[in-house]
Amino acid sequence: MIEFKGLRENVRWVHPRDEMILVLKRMAEFAARAGLTIVITSLNDHEHGDRSLHYEDLALDCQILKKDGAPSMGQMDRLARFLRKELPGGAFDVVWRTAGHHRHVHVEFDCRQRQTEHPVNA
Ligand SMILES: [Zn+2]
Repeated sequence: MIEFKGLRENVRWVHPRDEMILVLKRMAEFAARAGLTIVITSLNDHEHGDRSLHYEDLALDCQILKKDGAPSMGQMDRLARFLRKELPGGAFDVVWRTAGHHRHVHVEFDCRQRQTEHPVNA
């Protein structure tokens, strides 16, 4: 199952994009197979890096939580691997276990494939 639940404020989505719908579909498959809940913690809301694709409705952040509320690192490892394999190659970036991404997985549709490093608050 997929839940939308912001950490600090409500999740906001301005113009739902097909590319992000595709991400949610793959996530729903993963969640159903694993019998767990993926929490979408951010879309186009909150504060992100200056040029973040969150502001273009082309990025989302998500978490899988353990019963005690802590992030399930193992399940998020599996989710990141699954998305890298299942999303069409070349345009989607799955950012996980890099600076600023140890508690949530960031997924973006970056058709420009920017060369810049992902900002800490991506
Ligand atoms: Zn993000």
